[in-house]
Amino acid sequence: MERSFKKEVQALRLGAGETFRGEGILAVTKALLQSGVSYVGGYQGAPVSHLLDVMVEAQDLLGELGVHVETCTNEASAAAMLGASINYPLRGAVTWKSIVGTNVAADALSNLASPGVIGGTLIVVGEDYGEGASVIQERTYAYAMKSSMWLLDPRPDLPTIVRMVEKGFELSEASHAPVMLELRIRACHVTGEFPAKDNVKPAFSRLNPVAGPPRFDYARLAHPPVTFVQERRKVEERLPAAQAFIRANALNEVFPGDLDDVGIITVGGLYNSTVRALERLGLADTYGDTRIPIYCLNVAFPLVPEELRAFCAGKRAVLIVEEGYPDYIEQAVNVELRRADLQTRVFGKGPLPAAGEYSSEVLLEGLARFLAETAPRGLDTGPILARAGEITGRRAAAARAVGDLPPRPPTFCTGCPERPVFSAIKLMQRELGPTHISADIGCHAFATFAPFSMGNSILGYGMSLASAAAVGPNLDRRPIAVMGDGGFWHNGVITGVASNLFNKGDGVLVVMQNGYTSATGLQFMPSSKASRAGAAPGMDIEQTLRSMGVKWLRKVRTYNVSTMLKTLKEAMRTAERGLKVIIADGECQLARQRRVRAEDAAKLARGERVVRTKYGVDDAICTGDHSCIRLSGCPSLTVKPNPDPLRSDPVASVIESCVGCGLCGEVAHAAVLCPSFYRAEIVRNPTRWDRARHRLRARVIGWLAGTREVAA
Ligand code: SF4
Ligand code: SF4
Repeated sequence: MERSFKKEVQALRLGAGETFRGEGILAVTKALLQSGVSYVGGYQGAPVSHLLDVMVEAQDLLGELGVHVETCTNEASAAAMLGASINYPLRGAVTWKSIVGTNVAADALSNLASPGVIGGTLIVVGEDYGEGASVIQERTYAYAMKSSMWLLDPRPDLPTIVRMVEKGFELSEASHAPVMLELRIRACHVTGEFPAKDNVKPAFSRLNPVAGPPRFDYARLAHPPVTFVQERRKVEERLPAAQAFIRANALNEVFPGDLDDVGIITVGGLYNSTVRALERLGLADTYGDTRIPIYCLNVAFPLVPEELRAFCAGKRAVLIVEEGYPDYIEQAVNVELRRADLQTRVFGKGPLPAAGEYSSEVLLEGLARFLAETAPRGLDTGPILARAGEITGRRAAAARAVGDLPPRPPTFCTGCPERPVFSAIKLMQRELGPTHISADIGCHAFATFAPFSMGNSILGYGMSLASAAAVGPNLDRRPIAVMGDGGFWHNGVITGVASNLFNKGDGVLVVMQNGYTSATGLQFMPSSKASRAGAAPGMDIEQTLRSMGVKWLRKVRTYNVSTMLKTLKEAMRTAERGLKVIIADGECQLARQRRVRAEDAAKLARGERVVRTKYGVDDAICTGDHSCIRLSGCPSLTVKPNPDPLRSDPVASVIESCVGCGLCGEVAHAAVLCPSFYRAEIVRNPTRWDRARHRLRARVIGWLAGTREVAA
């Protein structure tokens, strides 16, 4: 069951004279509708999932406006959608998580950027870089540069973000180039308000279709020989047009300050953190009134040489605030200043670190170094540097006071259906020895953390089977590739399965069929049992695999650890060559709980019987060796002090959050652990039969207990 966005959808209907309040990413969604967008698509991923989720739930409103929405099966199909704007004056927007999504979309993006567009195109990328990121530490900037797409990086402020979306379409149309709008995690979730405008019906849409296809024009194809002309146009026409538009519309901002023999050049996304660091040093106030002038690049690429020169003229030094490496902007600033023969010294990497996120703390230290080096005229740097030392010292003191904290790696949800598969793999490896495991992107990647610590490589979403292709032939035992159903449809079915079958590969593929793309917020996908519209999309993983030629295929309920263990051993040992697929079937527990809790609440309200299953550990039997915990890792299975004063080892304990998935019992059985687990049913609104059965059980237990006492 997907999350409901009813409240957010209402906000999309706001019009002129009203105020929109909410998160940055929802402001982008509203701004798209205010811009007269004809079509929207994308592939979900943090931190931009909400954009698509809300759009999909706003079908009624979008139908009224005539906006077409697609939930694409991967980023490449989303990027290819933008092809509609090459020939037609249609504004389109797509979204995904970057850098990984941009990698997947790269082919289509190159082929889009080369011929260019007539209708404005906006690619909203969630820049998942820095602390808390879930992907490789790379930036989208390189793609913008190499393909001549313009990169907006608005400062995290809702009116600015909305303006950049609206101006982004105009910039795209003025320069005939695609525009990317980059939002860091914090920008997506920053909250604020902006004056709403009326939504705009697109000039052309399903309500007002374009009359017929265009005249054939070879120049609209990304194909030689016109690609040579297109390359020249990028440099000679589109780039100057974009720079002229950026200047004329003042997309970049200058914030003046009295210490104007130095300056700061920051990308928009880091403006807030920069001002916060200045404020902590006493060089700005909370409203952004700064003493050091700031040139804020809401357009990170391309640079506008005239603006840059005007800002740097008369300054002895500037600090470039651009996180990550390579230092693209720092290099570009150096080149432009040398071309203009300006002798302003350029600082960046040096006072600031070459790698990693620029948090307020990092910026504070970097600014202090810059000020110490440049000593701005009219500023006594002594007290400023003392303040910086005092602030950073507090952090060290706090760390000393708290001491070493235990690591808390992320893990599967309580009762996750994917956990038992790794319990079974662990048991299988105990018997057959370790094997190479190709991991993938998705919830199952939590198995790379304790207590499983499984996975020898992760090569991308849906890539696990492909990444095992050269492992199998060179190893003395079959590798296991683990893939989610989300990864299967995203890429794995072609990149992994088709390639393996085509090359007559061997090996084992475990497909986790939990029914949703769970890790990105429980979106439906081709093999889900339902869709937003209600009916199932109707695609089936088992049928697909069989139709492709997979002969060895087993479908196993994930919680059945014994059967899973037996099936894994069979897959590893069989003399049969070829791909062996195990579909590990079990609905995402998070989705299940959302559905079950709502159903139970409704039943309780009607006074109907509701049963909740829970597991527990008998303290008297638990040996305290914690094998069950090492084979499960469920957050609801923990330890507590041993109630027996004669035993010091803590005993295992199942806490209230247990959802009764049954893994505890299954693991104890499959691994032949101590028989300390019990299963209990908590019955609310019991029937007469429930009460009678309870009375009978209580009597029998009482009698047995009494007998034992007599025996004792
Ligand atoms: S979201 Fe679903 S699949 Fe992912 S860890 Fe939680 S229960 Fe498992
Ligand atoms: S039965 Fe065990 S594994 Fe399942 S939710 Fe309860 S404590 Fe966790």
